[in-house]
Amino acid sequence: MTLPPSANDAAVHIKRRGLMLVISSPSGAGKSTIARNLLENDPRLSLSVSVTTRPRRGSEIEGVHYHFVTRREFERLRDSEALLEWAEVHGNCYGTPRESAEIAMSEGRDMLFDIDWQGALQLQEKMPADVVSIFILPPSMAELKSRLQRRAEDAADEIAKRLANARAEIEHWREYDYVVVNDDLDRAYSAVRAIVQAERLRRDRRPGLFDFVADLLASPD
Ligand code: 5GP
Repeated sequence: MTLPPSANDAAVHIKRRGLMLVISSPSGAGKSTIARNLLENDPRLSLSVSVTTRPRRGSEIEGVHYHFVTRREFERLRDSEALLEWAEVHGNCYGTPRESAEIAMSEGRDMLFDIDWQGALQLQEKMPADVVSIFILPPSMAELKSRLQRRAEDAADEIAKRLANARAEIEHWREYDYVVVNDDLDRAYSAVRAIVQAERLRRDRRPGLFDFVADLLASPD
């Protein structure tokens, strides 16, 4: 299902800044599926493709899911300020390329960041006006475990590590603007979509409204 053009910005071309949509959750809470659905159905949203030192999973494509780099290359990028934020997660390094995000924001394009709480915090501090953050919670720890096992893309010790880290990640739920419990994928996806639609209409994100309303008031009845 494609999103209808909002009867607003898209229709009347009111200029606004891009939205930085940050989505975090413990591994297995359904964040990646929700993110994928959003990207497939919303042409105005693009994914920030992170850099990582984690080995590539079988289903992943270089440049689409991640840019896979060595630790040495990661450190070079980090030290040359090429990353907007970075963090160590489950023993690997992950970071957000600065340039693509800054270009998207200045062109008024919305970007999705699938990053952990450490990254979310850094982006919130650097770009408080542009970030909208959503935390996805699993309905229970038992369900989280079975989702991680069903995914079967990681080795058993990797799954155990991610489960052990999940509680610590969930502790950070208060740092987010919105919290969605993913007990049903369609419902959780609809909730996230509603958040995006509402945030796009925020007055303070749309400087173009000043001219629009001035023209509106100056026009004859
Ligand atoms: P995975 O290895 O399952 O792809 O990702 C592990 C965790 O790292 C996820 O919580 C994911 O959101 C997070 N992550 C992915 N890219 C980045 C990034 O660029 N920065 C930060 N801080 N976390 C990231």
